[in-house]
Amino acid sequence: MSLDEKALHDAVQQVAGQRVQSANAKDGVATIVLEVGGMDRLARDKLEMAVRDAARKAGAAEVRVAMTAEKRAPLIIAVGSGKGGVGKSTLSANLAVALAKAGRKVGLVDADIYGPSQPRLLATEGRRPEAEGNKMHPVQSPWGVPMLSMGHLVQPGQAIAWRGPMAGNALNQLIDAHWGDTEIIVVDLPPGTGDVQLTMLQKHKPAGAVIVSTPQDLALMDATRAIGLFEQAQVPIIGMVENMAGYVCPHCGEESDPFGSGGAEAAAKTMNLPFLGRIPLDLSIRQDSDGGRPPAAGEGPQAEAFARIARAVLGWLDQRK
Ligand code: ADP
Repeated sequence: MSLDEKALHDAVQQVAGQRVQSANAKDGVATIVLEVGGMDRLARDKLEMAVRDAARKAGAAEVRVAMTAEKRAPLIIAVGSGKGGVGKSTLSANLAVALAKAGRKVGLVDADIYGPSQPRLLATEGRRPEAEGNKMHPVQSPWGVPMLSMGHLVQPGQAIAWRGPMAGNALNQLIDAHWGDTEIIVVDLPPGTGDVQLTMLQKHKPAGAVIVSTPQDLALMDATRAIGLFEQAQVPIIGMVENMAGYVCPHCGEESDPFGSGGAEAAAKTMNLPFLGRIPLDLSIRQDSDGGRPPAAGEGPQAEAFARIARAVLGWLDQRK
C-alpha cells in the first residue's frame, strides 16, 4: 500500500485534530509533528498511539512521531482593497466565520483603525477586551470567532485621528494579543496603502493576502495598486474576490448587474492571480450584516458563496505546506 500525503494528513488529523503541526510522507515513511503543550504524559502517550495507528492504516510502513510544546504563531491572512466601500469588512468577517464553520480556529483583527466596523458585524459592540500582563484577551463573538478591534477600545462615534506611528502601535496591540490556540487570524486592513498597511507588512508579515474588488474598472484599478503593495513586500496574493456582482431583484427575481460583472475575474486572469469567488449584491447581506448576523453563519446561497471562498483559502494554505 502506498502512502499518500494528503490521506496521511487527513487520517492523522482525524485522531489528533489541531495538534497536528505537520504530516509528511516519503518512501512509505510517515513523519508527524504534534503540538502537545498542556497535555499530561498519559494523554500524550495515548495521542501518540492513536496517531501511529492512524498513520499505519493510511499506508505508512514506518511512522516517526515528534512532539513539541511550542505553539506556532497564528498565520495571518490579510484582506485588503484599493478603496473603501467595496465590502472588505463584510468579506473579512464572513471569511473568518466560514473558516470557523469549516473547523479551523480562527480569530479576526479589525485593523481598520479609523473606521472599525467589525464589532457591529459580529455583534460585539460595547464589549471591552480584558488585559492580562500588557496584552489583551480577544473578545469572544457569538460566531466562534474571537476578535479585537479599535472599536472595542474607544467609545462609539469617537473620532480616531491617530497618524503614522500611533496607528501602527494600535495595530501591534491588536495582533500581539493572547490568541491562545488560534491558527489563523484574518486581518481586515484599512483601504488603500497607508501607514497601517506598512506596519502590517513590515512587522506582522501575512502568510497571504485576499484582495476584494467590485467589478467596476475604477475599483479594479485601485485594487491593482493594493496588489502592488503586497507584491513589493513579497506577501503572496491568495487571490481576488469579486463583491457586489449580479443583483437579484427581491421582488421579480430578475438578475441585473448594476456594477457590471466578471470584471474582477477577468482582472485576476490578466494579472495571473487565482480568482477565489464572487459574492452577489444582495439586500439580505447588508441587512444581516448591519444586524450583527454574518450571512456566512447561516444557510443558503449567501452562506455558500462565503464557504466557497473559505475552501479556496484553505486549499491555498494546504498547498503552501
Ligand atoms: P469596506 O470594508 O470595503 O468599506 P463594507 O464591508 O463596510 O465595505 O461594505 C460597505 C457596505 O456595503 C455595507 O453597508 C455592507 O453591508 C454593504 N455590502 C457589502 N457587500 C455587500 C453585498 N454583497 N450585498 C449587499 N450589500 C453589501
